[in-house]
Amino acid sequence: MSAVLVINSGSSSLKYQVVDTDSGEAVAKGLVERIGEPGGRITHETGGASYVSEPDLADHTAAMEAMAWSFATHGPELGSLGLVAVGHRVVQGGSKFRGSTVLTEEVIEALDELSVLAPLHNPANLVGVRVAMQQFDSLPHVAIFDTAFHATIPPHASTYAIDARLAERHGIRRYGFHGTSHSYVAREAAAFLGRDPSEVNLITLHLGNGASAAAIRGGVSVDTSMGLTPLEGLVMGTRSGDIDPAVLFHLARVAGLDIDQLDDLLNKRSGVLGMCGRQDMRDLDAAAAAGDQAASLALETYCYRIRKYIGAYTAALGRVDAIVFTAGIGENQASVRGRTTSGLEALGISVDPDLNAARSKAVRDIATASSPVRVLVVPTNEELEIARDAVAVVTSG
Ligand code: ADP
Repeated sequence: MSAVLVINSGSSSLKYQVVDTDSGEAVAKGLVERIGEPGGRITHETGGASYVSEPDLADHTAAMEAMAWSFATHGPELGSLGLVAVGHRVVQGGSKFRGSTVLTEEVIEALDELSVLAPLHNPANLVGVRVAMQQFDSLPHVAIFDTAFHATIPPHASTYAIDARLAERHGIRRYGFHGTSHSYVAREAAAFLGRDPSEVNLITLHLGNGASAAAIRGGVSVDTSMGLTPLEGLVMGTRSGDIDPAVLFHLARVAGLDIDQLDDLLNKRSGVLGMCGRQDMRDLDAAAAAGDQAASLALETYCYRIRKYIGAYTAALGRVDAIVFTAGIGENQASVRGRTTSGLEALGISVDPDLNAARSKAVRDIATASSPVRVLVVPTNEELEIARDAVAVVTSG
């Protein structure tokens, strides 16, 4: 068996998973939470069982030690898994990293420099990289970027219409994120349709706490809704998505908010949470059904924004073979899929309500038999995509 340890390190949490790259199965996975805060917690899952412990987690070194302790105590024995690499999710690869790459001191330094573009994500990713490289010093470590899949977006779609020299100097452009998810589901969708990825045009909708849409022509990303940062585009759990930038100038002037407060407002206190006080789509659905007007409006705004992107990306692609829903909401929330696609018959998109309502963990087609554009639900698996990429990088080098 060949396996990859996949690590997704955040500022106060660390997700890990050992993926068997032959079967695609997760051998074990876990979540370390509240790093650097009181009340640390680790949840370790393997063989159908779940183990929770509450160690002190002063920092990411302690978190990585808690992970190693969980493997040693609850299994499986890490040394017995045939680990061939550690794959690290890194959010921002900038213009320099257009594909996954082996982590060296030089690469880490370059990524450190990119932290200015992703201050909420890259520093936390790199802390995890450094600690893991010490803990697992005999394995190759590979960085897999959220941005890399979108490196193919053409200049007319990645360029913001601002002063070109300023943009160049500060790396201001559309990078896009969720690349591992968009690329994974695009390939799965093509396989489901029985076609080669190079033959199909897709609009992929990753709808989780963060959300983004991508236009994919023949397996290649040609546009995506997130931009310089993951704030642009769709309405999200706590992020506003698209907004007139002048709202910020206005709020600074009339409400006296400074840059950090505006950053916090748009990233953490906006989206459906800001609109109706609820972040989880299941709660939103229940509240809207019970007559809560704010929840109803948030839901409709959320779906309308996606609908607009479907229209825009239909124009960008010219021909669309399938719309692909994925991630927590896309895979599970039939109401959101239904509202989002309603009234799109003119674009050749027609969803069968019964197929949409049926729950399943499998890849499925929920379009009516006569719908020219297929509508697919494809469970994403970012860890598997990261693991496969890590293997591809270490075996090619
Ligand atoms: P993240 O971006 O944090 O990985 P997820 O992809 O897990 O987020 O998506 C989180 C969202 O998915 C939540 O808003 C939640 O409402 C929705 N969701 C997750 N699981 C389910 C489920 N079983 N049924 C309905 N909605 C779900």
